[in-house]
Amino acid sequence: MVNVFMQPIASAPMVRRLLQEMNLSPNKLLGQNFLICEKTAQRIVQAAKINKEDNVVEIGPGLGALSEHMAKSAGYLGLLEIDMRLHSHLYRLFADNKLVEVMQGDALSFDYILYAKNKCWEDYLLVANLPYSITTPLLQYILLKGGPWRSLTLMMQKEFAYKLLPLSGKAAASPLALLMQYYGNINELFAVSKECFYPRPQVESIVIQITRHKQALFAVKNEEQFTGFLKAAFSHRRKTLLNSLCISMGQDAAWWREVFNSCGLGENKRAEQLTLAEYVYLFTTYERQLI
Ligand code: SAM
Repeated sequence: MVNVFMQPIASAPMVRRLLQEMNLSPNKLLGQNFLICEKTAQRIVQAAKINKEDNVVEIGPGLGALSEHMAKSAGYLGLLEIDMRLHSHLYRLFADNKLVEVMQGDALSFDYILYAKNKCWEDYLLVANLPYSITTPLLQYILLKGGPWRSLTLMMQKEFAYKLLPLSGKAAASPLALLMQYYGNINELFAVSKECFYPRPQVESIVIQITRHKQALFAVKNEEQFTGFLKAAFSHRRKTLLNSLCISMGQDAAWWREVFNSCGLGENKRAEQLTLAEYVYLFTTYERQLI
């Protein structure tokens, strides 16, 4: 790897210097807040627990703050960056390293399943300092179409994470939170202050990790349809769950009452009151009733 300056990329002088050299100003729309704290970069990479046998994909490598560490610890590292200018920089940075692949592309449409298949990977670790504006669609995309990921180590906006995840012992109350529980165990790792980024964001961040269940806790036939069902359940939060499903999924109230009764669910339940297990049961009963 050719980091000719022998300074960590995650430092204010290096980030400024690289941006200046490329005549590049951070793109707000792409969530370009670069890490300038080397300690944090190292902590994230350590948290991902990468070994020489591991394959890693990083989404949004930016200037390479995390990538330069992962390139040393991973067996193979795929970098997926949307910004052409950063892609060229990364390409030069890792030109000498055959075990790092720099790709230009959109993480929201990348074919992770095919990528892993072509590389004959049994599984891989995904690491990202996420562009905040696409956190929700990206998480959903990775969960459903991310292929054989083993863990996701992600930095995201703190406020967003607290709304989304069953952290601090609180029940999760969103389709995405339920979907995450479906796939794995979620852990909050550590907070990262806004001072650690250039440009400085308005908000604090945290690093979380989702470790995939070794054996699925539940198995629905079609996970995309299950996701649609969860979204329908939460689509009218002021109404009861039964009414919300009635409006969004079709069928009349009497039909849904029957489904609820056979699941042993009260008709006045609200979307946020059901556990994942109850949702899986409700969904499979709904599917059976349709036949
Ligand atoms: N990993 C670097 C770091 O920690 O300093 C940069 C993180 S920055 C918060 C987010 C990065 O994601 C930027 O490099 C941005 O260009 C990239 N990005 C934004 N949207 C993307 C997308 N849809 N697909 C791939 N990369 C994306």
